Amino acid sequence: MTLPNDTRCLPRILHQYWGFRSFLPLQYEAMSAVLHERDSLVVMPTGGGKSLCYQVPALCLDGLALVVSPLISLMKDQVDSLRASGIPAAQWNSTLAPHESRTVIDQIRTGTLKLLYIAPERLVNGPVLDLLASQRIAFVAVDEAHCVSMWGHDFRPQYRELAILKKTFSRIGIHAYTATATEQVRQDIVEQLSLDRPEILVGSFDRPNLTYSIARRTDRVAQIVEILERHRNESGIIYCISRKNTEETSSLLNNLGYQTAPYHAGMSDEDRLKNQESFREDRIRIIVATIAFGMGIDKPDVRFVIHSELPKSLEHYQQESGRAGRDGLEAECVLLYSERDAYLWKRVIEDQPAENQQAAFQPLKSILAYCRGTRCRHRAIVQHFGQKLDADCGNHCDICRGDYDAVPDPDILGQKILSSIYRQGQRFGAAYTAKVLKGSHDQQVLANRHDQLTTYGILRDASTASIRHWIDQLLTQAFLEKTPGEYPLLRITDLGWQLLRGEVTPKLIQLKEIPKRQIQQRQSAADSWDGVDRRLFEELRFLRLDLARQRNWPPYVVFSDVALRDMARLRPSNLDQLLNCRGVGQKKCESFGRLFLDCIADYCRKRHLEINRQPTEPR
Ligand code: ADP
Ligand code: ZN
Repeated sequence: MTLPNDTRCLPRILHQYWGFRSFLPLQYEAMSAVLHERDSLVVMPTGGGKSLCYQVPALCLDGLALVVSPLISLMKDQVDSLRASGIPAAQWNSTLAPHESRTVIDQIRTGTLKLLYIAPERLVNGPVLDLLASQRIAFVAVDEAHCVSMWGHDFRPQYRELAILKKTFSRIGIHAYTATATEQVRQDIVEQLSLDRPEILVGSFDRPNLTYSIARRTDRVAQIVEILERHRNESGIIYCISRKNTEETSSLLNNLGYQTAPYHAGMSDEDRLKNQESFREDRIRIIVATIAFGMGIDKPDVRFVIHSELPKSLEHYQQESGRAGRDGLEAECVLLYSERDAYLWKRVIEDQPAENQQAAFQPLKSILAYCRGTRCRHRAIVQHFGQKLDADCGNHCDICRGDYDAVPDPDILGQKILSSIYRQGQRFGAAYTAKVLKGSHDQQVLANRHDQLTTYGILRDASTASIRHWIDQLLTQAFLEKTPGEYPLLRITDLGWQLLRGEVTPKLIQLKEIPKRQIQQRQSAADSWDGVDRRLFEELRFLRLDLARQRNWPPYVVFSDVALRDMARLRPSNLDQLLNCRGVGQKKCESFGRLFLDCIADYCRKRHLEINRQPTEPR
């Protein structure tokens, strides 16, 4: 053991147990705060690497680290992962049988554990607290710390009682971890846990490995299928607003030969758990879910998240889409929306008490504005959380990737749309306006004699989807506004009149026609696949699945995808070389190394492939 405030142990432990050679942003600072016994609040997005912030220092310090966690399902995974890496860890919660609890108590008494995951209600229970207070406790980590705040989205009353920690363990550090970005929740965490002049570390909310794209929904199933085809054999989540759509989408996709399972609050606990477990353990690749799904899921290799309908707010979107690519490898987030979705949410919101409604509408407006936006998606999200990006994302969103072109004469196009709305008497919505501009033979258009307008068919050559998209853009840029109600009408704003007079110019974009092939090539050109033999990767995945099933673990507890890709890239032939793969720590190398090396050797021999390639700079 090292002196408490000596941080030199950190890189060594990180490499020895986890097989990583560098820290993710702020991890080192967060770990140092733990070693220096200074209270801390660490805010990082999902996938930022929060767990290691307390797990690594726990191995550098004497005594037992307590980890308070609200989710029993996550505790088991964390403990399994730690044990697989050779770290003495245990969980203590209501799922344990009496004899298992007794074993844990013995382990606490004899000081054989380094990390104890514990449910909050168990921790604040008198005798348990007495037992722990009589032991050498290194520090307390409070995971998902936003659960302490009523302002957060997942308030848990038992978390409030954690204030007792500071009284009981007055001399040790208390460290709180959350992915929640709002300032109000952060302040609440500090107050509720009585943190003493904590070090506050807030990471960037950007997730550079995620690719965002947004499209209007024209044909839900066809659009989803197009995305699924890019992700064969990969895990993903499809979100819907209603239980009904969740069920329907899942069964339609199953009829098309995909294997999906639904998840929503209307199902029995048993069925929900069954589907969640199948997803975690890779028995089913795709889950179709309402927002009820996600909290208990730590799956690192979710490669795509599709919102088949509008998310409830940008906060929700950030959180739900953030479940993709936790392992840092590339992942795709696609949002399909229609203006009608906002109305669906409004109905959900209007069922709530009146005083909550106003607060709920604003987030809905923000997410709609985000969808209709014409700027880098990464930048727009980060800005929403009060942070800045130095540059646009490059090619990790539909806008920057150049899926859209600027319209050549946006002022003329804008004027055409606005003058049609004016000539229609400002008494119609977006769908109707698009029909007039397109020159549709729709009954209502003909009955209103709007085929006589000079703007009828003036955008005949554009697709209806493009016209709707331009109207959205004019709304976001405040040239137009909508009246409230179920069937909102389009009205021209003061700024809109300036556009009609030619005094201002909007920024309008349109979707490029991209051949499908090109999209697929883009995906496969991803850096993290560089030099990876994909077939070998698949074989290693089979082996992993087999080993995981024998042990009743989710596959990623054996090795992460990051590790398997490195193995399929470097094709090591001995244990020392295997340790060069990212995410291969010493203990796992000893437990499983030979099996993976045999698989690699076998594969290379059959195909006369070079073994033992030189590592290049880690990306
Ligand atoms: P969070 O709890 O913040 O969502 P996790 O602790 O689950 O994040 O970590 C997310 C992923 O990042 C995991 O797959 C983990 O193995 C990986 N990871 C954590 N720290 C590092 C590191 N220093 N280098 C590489 N990968 C890391
Ligand atoms: Zn971008």
